[in-house]
This record gives sequence, structure tokens and C-alpha cells, in this order.
Amino acid sequence: MTITPDQIAQAGIVGAGGAGFPTHVKLSGKADTVVINAAECEPLLHKDKELIRCRTEQFVEGLAVAMQLVGAKRGIVGLKRKYREVADVLRPKLARSMTIAPLDDIYPSGDEFVLVYETLGRVIPPGGIPLAVGAVVLNVETVCNVAAAPTTSVVEKFVSVAGDVKHPCTVRVPVGAPLSVCVQAAGGVTIADPAYVLGGVMMGDIETDLTKPVTKTTGGIIVLPQDHFVVSRKLWDWQRTARVGRAACDQCSFCTELCPRNLLGHPIEPHRAMRSLGFNLSAQSDTPGTVFCCECNLCSYYSCPEDLDPKNVCTENKRRLFAAKTRWENPPFRPERPDRLMKDRKTPTSRLIQRIGLAGYLNKGPLDDKLVSVTSVEIPLKQHIGAPCVATVKVGDQVQVGQPVGVRPLTGGKPALGADVHASISGTVKQVGNDSIRIVCS
Ligand code: SF4
Ligand code: SF4
Repeated sequence: MTITPDQIAQAGIVGAGGAGFPTHVKLSGKADTVVINAAECEPLLHKDKELIRCRTEQFVEGLAVAMQLVGAKRGIVGLKRKYREVADVLRPKLARSMTIAPLDDIYPSGDEFVLVYETLGRVIPPGGIPLAVGAVVLNVETVCNVAAAPTTSVVEKFVSVAGDVKHPCTVRVPVGAPLSVCVQAAGGVTIADPAYVLGGVMMGDIETDLTKPVTKTTGGIIVLPQDHFVVSRKLWDWQRTARVGRAACDQCSFCTELCPRNLLGHPIEPHRAMRSLGFNLSAQSDTPGTVFCCECNLCSYYSCPEDLDPKNVCTENKRRLFAAKTRWENPPFRPERPDRLMKDRKTPTSRLIQRIGLAGYLNKGPLDDKLVSVTSVEIPLKQHIGAPCVATVKVGDQVQVGQPVGVRPLTGGKPALGADVHASISGTVKQVGNDSIRIVCS
């Protein structure tokens, strides 16, 4: 099937597993390999492997389209070795140019730098993108959306709901549905003091307002007690991170020794960022390698024996460097390093789950394939990297599922970086705001 980048943009397809980079832009490059990120390394998330299992043909078709668009001769699906039954379903459907790369059950195998190394043996340079080593990396749900682009826009989202809910599962909801609907679809919470982590427990953030909408990039909702280790760590403020770090860091450097980006040979050393706390993170003490931190939180939640927060020290350091427009030209890079060190320093997900207090939770998320029904949705005009969309509807308009309600603005006569947004239910436009459009079933 021939699908064009324009169709992909008009279908509103963005990276469904991360920051929402517009997929048509990614697929406008040239690469020898398309790598599918099915690693899903965040504990308790399962939607990607569930999609491969339940949408196998669509997934393979989307991979074929992506390979054709970028001119890739091969497609590699990075899937954890432990998901044998999913690999058994997928393998017979793959074309000869497609293979499965069995991944160790480690964190963060879904970081695209780690994934590209694990699947291709290539090391992306610091600050680079997979294209720099001839690869395009796509998420499972993204390629499923690519396959559907000629007929279906992105109006549904798959979300893993886990933790303290009655039935941990993966739900299928309209884009723009309230987050609370996902939790209800998983049977509701089972504790009196729930906190909600949006995304994954390692890299996600606490969300207190469940009336907010599911977006094209929402991947998971994890319900945990307010006093859970993960929740309390995410609520630390900068003053506490800096005060405790300054007082207690003994420069053991475990955070650096296990840092996945450091293991790839990138010049990031979180223990040095911690040392800079003693100098109040002044401009002179900023450690430039922090710009290469992927914010995986491994150092803060797992590696540090003192339970300190090097990740947020790196993040703060990075923020200051960006604000000062400080760039590190030609950073040192040791691409031979992972071959020597990576194998013995991988962090097993099972140990991580123990360490951060998730061992008691059901680590399964079967897909409930019935679309959750809602009576109203809020469609954000910006669900992607790039410019917000411009609304194309007004209050009182009747809209149908899949109809564009916001399009990319024009810059210099061409659509700006972004992806169009669509009505995810049929109904009446009730509100058109600066940030979103509300649609209510008629
Ligand atoms: S692991 Fe902890 S104590 Fe050791 S250097 Fe890193 S932040 Fe400091
Ligand atoms: S969060 Fe920590 S472990 Fe992860 S990349 Fe940054 S410094 Fe390394």
C-alpha cells in the first residue's frame, strides 16, 4: 500500500510513546533500518506488546509502510525475550526483510539510544538522533496508526492502567476522554489515598487532575498510595534535592557507573553534577555533560545507595545550560565503551521493581479491546512537538468522528511542524479555547 507523508500528517500521527514528534517528519528521512521500539521498559506498562498481539497484521503493515518511506532494507522489532508468546504470534506474519531482536529485560531498554545499540550494535553520538547511525525508531502504536492513515485519523488511544486498581489492564479510549475514564475502565481504585503517575513510574509525573484529557502521547496511568516511594520521590522540590544532595553525597559514583548514557560512552557523569551542588550550581561549576541525560531516573531511584536525586540535579544543571545557551562543541565520545561494559552493568527490571516497591503489583495489562464510551471530550490543540494547531470549527458546529477540528498553522506558506487534530466522538462543538476544543455528544 502506498501511503504518503502528507496522509500521515493529515491523520495527525505523532510518536505515541514519547514526546509526540510528528511522524511524517521522521519518515521523510532516509535510513537503512527501521527499529520498532517494543521494549516497553517502564515497569507495569504493557500496551505495546498487547497491540502487537492483538493488531498483528496492522502493525506489520505499518512497519512495511515506514520501511518503504525511508528506503530501509530491513525492519527490526525490539521485543523483550520474555514475551515469547507475542513473538510467536508476530514471527509468521513478518516479511523476509523484518526480524525480531530479542531484548534483555532491563531498564531502560526503551531509551532509543540503548535500543539502537541493543538491536543494531550502533552507538548514537551524544546529542544525536538515530538517523545519525542510519536508523529510524518508531513506537508500536505509531506504526499501527501509520497503517490506518488512509482511512483513520488518530482518534483513539491505548493506555495501560496499573497499580492499585481493581483490574490492571490496557484500555482503548477516545483521544480527549478524561483520564478518570481510564481508571474507571480498569475497575476503579482500590485504596483510599490514591496518587496518579502519568506515563510510567520511572519517567512519568504525578497528575492530580483526572479531568484532564487523554492525549495522543498518554501511555499509562499508575495508581499508587500517596506514601509510596515513587510518589514521595516525585514530590521532592529542588530545595530538598539540593540540600540533601549537598549534605549526603559521598561521591561513590555508583550513579555514573550505572548510567545508561555513560555506559554508551557519552560524557555524562551525574556524580560530577552532584559535586557541583557544593558550588551552588554556579555557572563555573555547571557540568556540561548533563545535557546528555535522558532523565531515565535510574540514578535517583535505583543506583544511589544514599537515596539521593542526581537525576534532578542533572535536569536543573541542564536547564541552566540551555538558559545560558551554553553548547558543548565536540564532546568526548567513546563508542567502544558499551562493548566492554554494558553487558555486566545492565539493570534487571525485576531488581528495579523490587527496589522501588512495585513487587506486590500485578505486572500484566491485558487489552480490553472494547472502545470506552464517553459523552464529551476535550481535544488539545497541541499534542505534539511543534506549533499548536489552529481550530477549524466554531461553537455550535456538528462534527463527526475523524473530522479535522484543528490544523497546522501555515508558516511561509507551508504547514508548520506539528500534526492535525480530529474529533474523537461525533457531536456538537461546545467550546473553542486557545488550548483545546470541547465536543459533547448530541
Ligand atoms: S550514587 Fe549517590 S552518593 Fe554516590 S555519587 Fe551518586 S549521588 Fe552521590
Ligand atoms: S537520569 Fe541519571 S541514570 Fe538516567 S541518563 Fe540521567 S544521569 Fe544517567
